[in-house]
Amino acid sequence: IQPPENPLQSEEWNRLRESFSSPEIFEDVMLNRMVKCNSPVDVAKSLLTHVAKSHGDIAYSLLVKYLALCVQQGKTSEILDVYDIMKIRFKILESGAYNLLIRGLSNSDQWRMALTLLEEVRKIMIPSRTNYESCIKAASRHQEMNLAFELYHEMLDKDLAPTLDVLQAFFDFSRGMKGPELQKELFGILFYLRDNQIYPHKTFMRSIKLWFESIPGGNWRGHLTNIKDSGQCPVCNHQLEDSELTEEEYNKLRERIIRDVIHGTDTFRKTSPQEFEAFQTFVENRLPFDIVIDGLNVSHMKPRQMQCENLFNAVNCLAKGNARLLVLGRKHMLINSSNWRKELMKEMQDKADFFFAENISEDDTFLLYATLRSGKHCKFVTRDFLRDHKACLSDSVTRHLFRKWQRGHQIAFYSSVEGKRINFLPALPYDCVVQTTGDTWHIPYKNIFEEKYSYQVPRKWLCIHQKW
Ligand SMILES: [Zn+2]
Repeated sequence: IQPPENPLQSEEWNRLRESFSSPEIFEDVMLNRMVKCNSPVDVAKSLLTHVAKSHGDIAYSLLVKYLALCVQQGKTSEILDVYDIMKIRFKILESGAYNLLIRGLSNSDQWRMALTLLEEVRKIMIPSRTNYESCIKAASRHQEMNLAFELYHEMLDKDLAPTLDVLQAFFDFSRGMKGPELQKELFGILFYLRDNQIYPHKTFMRSIKLWFESIPGGNWRGHLTNIKDSGQCPVCNHQLEDSELTEEEYNKLRERIIRDVIHGTDTFRKTSPQEFEAFQTFVENRLPFDIVIDGLNVSHMKPRQMQCENLFNAVNCLAKGNARLLVLGRKHMLINSSNWRKELMKEMQDKADFFFAENISEDDTFLLYATLRSGKHCKFVTRDFLRDHKACLSDSVTRHLFRKWQRGHQIAFYSSVEGKRINFLPALPYDCVVQTTGDTWHIPYKNIFEEKYSYQVPRKWLCIHQKW
C-alpha cells in the first residue's frame, strides 16, 4: 500500500482501512510504509489522531513507529511530544524507544535532553553502544570534550567497543583545542587502537593527522608513506618496532597458551581428551614444523574451486624451499567426494604431514599447539583471527604478546581475481601496529573502510613527527 501524500480525515482513513486486505494490522503496515517512504509527519499524525478517536488510545508499537519517522526527519518538538505521551502512558519504555529518542535528541539543539534520557536508561538497563555514541558525538559537537570522554570511558568500562566513527569524531572535534588533558585522552585513543590491533581507514587517518597538526605550539607534521621492507620510515628514518618476540617473551607466551587455552577448561568441550592426546603424540614425533596449515580454512579460499584443489595449490606453493608442513585436516577429507578427490589427497600427503581430526573438532587449538611446540620460527596459515582464544588469555600483557606473535607469524593469503594463483603475504620483520616514541607516531592505515574479517596488515603508514 502507498501512504497518502496529504493528511486525511477520519472517514477517509476508514475507507482506506476497509479496502485493505487485513484491516486489523492496517495501522502498523501503513506506519511502516510511511517510515520507509519518509512520508510527511503531518500525514502520520493524522493517522494517529484517527486511531485515538476511534480506539480511545494509541498502541505503544504505533507510537514507536511514529517516533522513528520524527527522528528520521529531525522533528525535535514532535520527538519531545511523543516522549511526553509515552512517559505518561507507559512509565518505563523499552530499549527501541530509548534508542530512537536519544538518537533524535542528540542531533538537535535539545541534545542535553539526550543525556537526561541516557541517565534514565542507566537506571533500568545497560545503555547500548549507540546510546553512548549518540551522546558522545553530541557532547563533542558542542566542544564539551570532558563530558564526551567521561561517557567514552564509561562505555569502555561496560565492555562496549566503540566504532571507528565515534573515535574519529573525537579527533575531528578536538581540532585546534588546547590542553594537556585533552591531548592525553586522544593519545589514549591511539593506544586503544594499538592494544586492539585496529587500523584506521583513510578518512580517520586524515582526522588524526589534522588534529596533530592543529595542536597549538605542537609543531607536529604528518606525512603519508610506505615503510621500507627493512622497517625503516623513509620520512623520519625511524626504525619501527621489531616483530620478533624475545626468547623470554616467547617462552612466556607459549606456556600461557598451552596452559590457559589448550589445557584450559574449555578445550575438551570442543575435542575429546583422547583425540587431543593422539594429536600431541603425533606432533611430538614429527617436530619441528615450519608452517602449520588450517586445511579446512584454506580449502574454502576460492569458493568456485574444488576444496581439495585449493588446498593442493596452497600446499604446493608453501612446500617450496623444503619447508616442513603440517596440514590440519578433518576426517571427512579422506572420503572420496566431489570436493575431496583421493588422488589429490594422496599427492599432498607426500609433500606434507597430515593430521585428520574428528569432523567436530576445533582446529584452532590444534593449530596453536603444533605451531608453538615447533618453536619461534614456525608460522601458521589460517584466515581466522583466533579471536576466541584472545578472550581466554587472562592478562593484558599476555594478550599483547599473543597479538604481536600473531601479527609476526600468521601467513595471510588471498586469491587473485583472475587465474588460479594464490598469493601469500610473508610476515614482516617490523611490527604493524600503532606505535610511538614520544616525538614520533607511526600509524598504519587502510585505504578503504574495510571488511571486518580482514587479516591482511596494511602497507600504508602515517608518519607524524615534531619539527623543531
Ligand atoms: Zn616516520
